[in-house]
Amino acid sequence: MSINHSDYIKDIVFAFKKLPGIGERSARRLAFYLLSQNESVAFNLADAIKNAKQNIKLCKNCFNLASDDLCPICGNRSRNHKLLCIVENPEIIYVFEKSGTYNGYYHVLHGSINPLEGVMPSDLKLKELVERVENGAFEEIILALNPNSNGEATSIYIKKILSPFDLHITALARGVPIGSDLEYVDKDTLSEAINYRKSFD
Ligand SMILES: [Zn+2]
Repeated sequence: MSINHSDYIKDIVFAFKKLPGIGERSARRLAFYLLSQNESVAFNLADAIKNAKQNIKLCKNCFNLASDDLCPICGNRSRNHKLLCIVENPEIIYVFEKSGTYNGYYHVLHGSINPLEGVMPSDLKLKELVERVENGAFEEIILALNPNSNGEATSIYIKKILSPFDLHITALARGVPIGSDLEYVDKDTLSEAINYRKSFD
């Protein structure tokens, strides 16, 4: 059975639709755009994604993206060992680092608790967080989760599991718009949110 050209297009549309914020129409527009361009445009995109996926792994310590066992942040011993900032995904580390206001370490959960979508605490890097806290010299844990109900539920859960430890638990100041995703917040707002962080209770 030969494959019809529209099946190839359907495959691209299907793949694009899996990306956040891309619906049927955007997916179709992107697919037809790529097909109308010089083939190097599509091949460069495909190669860039493939190379990144093949060469980037997760840091064994904080679960940030890394090209070695440890990410450059964990590999930098001159940062502040007393501070640990908990984020949902590596993109938020990128925004924090760009803001230049934070010099502690990070821990990436890879999501937030979301019962409606079946994301439970055991799906996140929480066991690893407790291990790090047990073995580290952290004095302050900064909860930098998204200001929405899932982020809030996750923060409460983390506070509970870290309660046996002698730690100051803080959260970002509310300069960050409620319901927004931290990765879309500009670096100045984020700097302010971290500088004016408050005890989380
Ligand atoms: Zn790391």
